Order: sequence, then C-alpha cells, then structure tokens
Amino acid sequence: MSVDASHTGSRRLLARLRDVMAAGGSAQKKLEQVVTLIAAGLEAQVCSVYVKRAGEVLELFATEGLRRDAVHVTRLRVGEGLVGTIAAHARALALSDAKGHPSFAFRPETGEEIYLSFLGVPILRSGRVIGVLAVQNTRRRAYEEEEIETLETVAMVLAELVAGGDLISREESRQVDGIGMLALRLDGLKLAAGIGIGQAVLHRPQIAIDRLVSDDPDRELVRLQDAVDEMHGALDSMVENTEGEHRDILETYRMIAEDAGWLARIEEAVASGLTAEAAVQKVQSDIRARMSQITEPYLRERVHDLEDLANRLLQHLTGGVRAAVDLGATNGFVVVARSMGPAELMDYDRDRMRGLVLEEGSPTSHVTILARACGIPVIGRARDVLDRVETGDPVIVDGDHGQVFVRPAEDVQVAFREALEARRQHQEQLAALRDEPATTLDGVRITLSMNAGLLADMSHFPEIGADGVGLYRTEVPFMARPNLPGVDDQATLYGRVLDLADGKPVAFRTLDVGGDKLLPFWDAGDEENPAMGWRAVRMSLDRPALLRQQVRALIRAAAERELRLMFPMVSEVAEFDDLQRLLDMELERASGLGWPLPGPLKVGVMLEVPALLFQLDDLLQRVDFLSVGSNDLLQFLYAADRGNARLAERYDALSPASLRLLRDLAARCDAAGVPVSVCGEIAGRPIDAVALVGLGFRHLSVAPSAVAQIKETIRSMRLDAVTGYLDTLVHGTSNRLRGRLRAFAIDQGIAI
Ligand code: PEP
Ligand code: MG
Repeated sequence: MSVDASHTGSRRLLARLRDVMAAGGSAQKKLEQVVTLIAAGLEAQVCSVYVKRAGEVLELFATEGLRRDAVHVTRLRVGEGLVGTIAAHARALALSDAKGHPSFAFRPETGEEIYLSFLGVPILRSGRVIGVLAVQNTRRRAYEEEEIETLETVAMVLAELVAGGDLISREESRQVDGIGMLALRLDGLKLAAGIGIGQAVLHRPQIAIDRLVSDDPDRELVRLQDAVDEMHGALDSMVENTEGEHRDILETYRMIAEDAGWLARIEEAVASGLTAEAAVQKVQSDIRARMSQITEPYLRERVHDLEDLANRLLQHLTGGVRAAVDLGATNGFVVVARSMGPAELMDYDRDRMRGLVLEEGSPTSHVTILARACGIPVIGRARDVLDRVETGDPVIVDGDHGQVFVRPAEDVQVAFREALEARRQHQEQLAALRDEPATTLDGVRITLSMNAGLLADMSHFPEIGADGVGLYRTEVPFMARPNLPGVDDQATLYGRVLDLADGKPVAFRTLDVGGDKLLPFWDAGDEENPAMGWRAVRMSLDRPALLRQQVRALIRAAAERELRLMFPMVSEVAEFDDLQRLLDMELERASGLGWPLPGPLKVGVMLEVPALLFQLDDLLQRVDFLSVGSNDLLQFLYAADRGNARLAERYDALSPASLRLLRDLAARCDAAGVPVSVCGEIAGRPIDAVALVGLGFRHLSVAPSAVAQIKETIRSMRLDAVTGYLDTLVHGTSNRLRGRLRAFAIDQGIAI
C-alpha cells in the first residue's frame, strides 16, 4: 500500500483541524474557527455548518462568508433547500449553478445571493445525518471528485464535535420523544417465534475513537493491514470451529471480509489523512447512509454483514476484541441491535440469550436464520429501539406477535412470566404425546410430518415425534453457502438428513430458488414479480445441469434407501414430463455406473400453481404423490402477494373458494389412489388443520414447532362431526368462516 500524493492538501487541512479541536475553548468557538479553516483549505468564499435539531430542522451554527447574524437564525427543514436535500438523502450535492437546482431555497438574511456554486455533504454519525457541511464559491465552478472526498472526510471529523453534547444536548440529538423511562411497547416484524424475557444488552459496539487525524498515513496503512490480517485469522478459526450450516453462513461472511472494494475505500480514506479507525468508521457510515437507496434485498443483507465486519475490524484496531461480551446481566438477556452479522451473534452466550431485537433485519438475513435455528425469538424493524432502551432495562420479546415490551409494568411482566410457565407446562404435556400417533377420536390415522431445511431442524427430529419429513426445502442450505455445493457435498448433506430421519420418509423438494430466494453466488437479475418469475423448476428446466447434479446427489445419498423427490412450482403436465426425463437420465447414468438405486423411488409434485388443477387427471396418472404448497397456491388463487402485510388478513384459507378447491382436490386424489398432503403454513395452524382433515386430507406436514400442537388437535377431534359441519360452511358465501369454525371446535372440545 502506498500513499497517493494527491491527498496532501486534505491531510494538511485535517492536521490543522485536529489542532483546533485539541485546543481549549467552547464547541461553538471551535466550530467558528473550523469553518474559516475549511473555507481557506478548499479555496471557497463560504463555509457553513448546519446542525440538525429536534423536529427535523437544520440550523446554521457557524459560517465563514455568510452574514454572521444569520447564525442560529437561518433554519431549514430536512428536505427543504439544498442543505435540507443533502440531509434528506444523506448524499453530497455538488452544483456549479446552485440557483438552477429545483430545491434551491433563498434565505435573504444570509446574503448568499452572490455565490453561484455550492458543494455540501452530510455530517454523519452512526449512519444518521446530524448536520450538513457546505462550501460556496462566487464564481461558477465544478467541484472535483477529490474535493468532495475531502469535504466528506472533514465532515467525519466534525461529527465528533457536533455529537459531543456541547452544541446541542445529547438528549436533543438523540431525539428523545418525551417517553423518558416510561414503559413502552414497540411493534416490529416477527422474524423468529417464541417469548423471551431478560435484561437489555445494547449491542452497540460504538468504539470511542480518540485519534481521528493521522500524521503518518503510511503507518496507518500498515496498522490497517495488520488488523485486517488479524481479523481474517480470527474469522478463519471461527469457521474452523463451527459445524453444519452455521459454518456455511460464516464462510459466506468470511468471503465478504475479503471484498476488495470495501478495503480499497478504507485505504483511500486513510490516504486522505484519517487514522485507520476513523477511516473504517467513515466508510461504515457512508455505506449505512446509502443503505436506504439500496433496494436489492440481497445487497441490503450484505450491508449488515459489512457493518458487522467494520465493527470487528475496529475492535482489532483498538485492541478491544471481546472474547465474550461483557453483559452486566446476570441471568437471561435480550440483545438490542441496529443490525447484526452472524459472527456477532456467535459472540454471545446463546444459552442465556432470551431474545434479539433489531432495528433492521429481515426474514432472510443471516443473523435471523442462525437465531431461528438456535431457538431465539427475534423481532425485526423495531423502529429507533436503540434510542429507547438502556442497558439493564427489563425487556420482553414476543416473537409470536411481533412486539417488544420495554420496561414493562410489573403486572405485564407477571403476565408474561405466567404465559411462559404455562407454555412450558403445555410443552411438557405435548412432549408426552411424542410417541403417540396422530389419530382422531373416531380412529382415523393422520400422517403428521414436519418441514425442514436446516440440519439443525433435523437434529431435533427424534424429539419431535413426526412421522417423517413432508417437505425438505433443499434451497435453504444453498442459501447459507458461499458457493454452489458440488455433488459430493450435496450427497453428504442429503445422506445426513436421511440418517437423522432414521428410516422415516423424507420428501426432498428440488431447488426452489430464484425470485426472492436468492443465492449468494447466483445473479438472477431484477424481476418485477419475483414470486411469479424465473424460479424453481422454471430455472431447473432452463439450467438442467443444476437439477441433474442435485438428483445425482440424492440418488447417491439414498443408495438403497427410499427416495422421495418432489418438484416445486410445476405449472403444466408437460413440464412434469420434462422433469421426469431428466430424472430418468440420471437413473440410467447411476445404473450404468453400477451405483445402487433408490429403493423405492417416489416422485411427486408440489401443487402451487392453479393451472395444474385443470390437468389433474393426467397428472395423477403420472405421480406417486402430491403435496399442496398452500403458501403459493393461495397467493396465486387469490392473486394476493403472500409477503404483503396489508393483504395478510384479507384472504383467508377458510373461505368457500379455497375450501371447495381443497375438498375437490382431496376427493379426486383419493379416487385416483394418489396420496396428497398439505405442507404450507396452513397445515400448522390448529383450526386450519381441523378443516383440512375434515375436507379429506390424511397427510399434513408442518413446522417442527407445530407438530406437537397439531397432534394434540387431531387427537381431540371427531372426524365425522367436523366433516358434517364443513359441508354446511362450504356451500355458503360468507368469507368469515374462521370464527365459526373456532366456535365449533371449542364447542366440540377440540384442542386448538
Ligand atoms: C408453499 O408454497 O406452500 C411451500 C410449502 O413452499 P415455500 O413456502 O417454500 O414456497
Ligand atoms: Mg412454495
């Protein structure tokens, strides 16, 4: 690494700023000196600092060049004028003709009408805009990329002064909304179910950096490189010491750590005169601020990983690597974070971790996948939670309802403790059913399987008491990996799944990727409607090698054991025929090589696309079984996006249209002698499960956590009574059948 000579100007300016900051005097006085220095350093006639105050207002705090009596008088709302626009978008704005910009707002008290050109940058702290720094020139001029960089670097140094608490109080800058220490309930996104109670631990590895400006950039580059090497070493050993898909996730993460672009940006910031720590923080802040503009979900997830890495790198630079996080909480704790990477989760004692609350987070983020596999309830998108919780506050995480209770009143705490205790007792009762069959009171045996996708799910298989795995989502392990697993890796994984199932059947669903289920190593391009896009078998048919390799691995894994295969998102019988041909080729290949063939092989289809219903007779002659993917089937039946929260309550599976469809389907499969199961979410909800059994389904496959409950439900129902009652509902037109079914179930003593 070597330092670019073109950064000399920036470094000189930073050194002067550092001297001003280090000298005595009030923050306001320092700010006044700083604007003079910056104006001179950038050969501008004006330099102004605006500080963001409560109520989303930017106030002029210091200026060189504008009228002094405008200081503390001129105010702009976020989004108003050029300064407000910079704050709203957290982006630099460089204009040779400021007045020509549509957002230009003239403030007569500043006397700024004589300045033609304008360059402004946000002052960022932890990714939040806390002010704006701007320079102006009388003559029309274009600002160079390097000048923008310099101003951004200066803004980074100024952030310390602005956030220091002397200019405006910390309370105001944290935008405390008057709630003080009152109890608070926050709504968020349900990312992992369950209830957790514990003391808050703020995951804010905001490391205080004493030195922002360096005298010797070459030395800083060496320090940076050393810290990067150290971090890689630590990540390597973390990966080595981890097993299963946790390891895959960490491996993907380790690859991100090698992202050359990210490191190059940090090196660039060091070259401009920042210390290595300050450079890491600057790049972290820039990335975070631009995050709102990143719409691609996969990239957004990776931003969280980058943030996690930046924190790690800072710890290596400051020597403060935490072996185990100092919690200050003696019992269970709840971690509250803006976002978190998977490696950071591994730093906490997961036996005492009762919950995780994130300001960001999504169902597919690495940390969510890991936390879910560890049984930790998670709430995402809890707005501003970090500003509202203090370390040590009691917190309740209700992952079932997407709610967080902060400093709850004593009676709320008691209620949740009782709920937890009742849940524990109920779990014990349910556990007693483990070896009992799911048979109705009138003697009809229902096959109750579980859905899985992680080895972690499979390792609980024996305790769950399921009859098999009705849906193994093979894409899940792919999503956690840094690269496409080869046939050997896949065969090992599937073999392990079959071993853990211990002779009970497992239905492997072939890859359902594409659309929103993105793979880290696969660029599927942008799609307008990903759920209806190039996904699942559509992709497999266009890229047969992928499917053939997977099938090859499955044949190898099964050896002479039974193999159940099912294809997702089949829309037409002709598609199934094409898939069957690919499968036959692999079987021929395997027997040509003298491999043992699966015995027996059962081939099925997921019923998810309504068109297939209109070729049902032809399909039933070809397949060994069907599985209803009700999540997709219902979204396509009602034309209602399954991920759209606004539609979640509008279309109910328990409505005449879907009930009739499902009843006809069950009857036709029965007549054809083809087993049909339901493996979508509805099968795991007690009332819906009662309805499905009543409609004629004899196989259900549900999430591992729902198996025991659904078993209890089935064991408490009389099938004949339910079937009779459903007949009356299916013929009506009301779409509010859920309440009526619930009342019926309670009346009948069915455990729902
Ligand atoms: C379904 O669509 O119901 C299903 C089980 O598949 P997935 O949820 O994985 O799309
Ligand atoms: Mg589906």
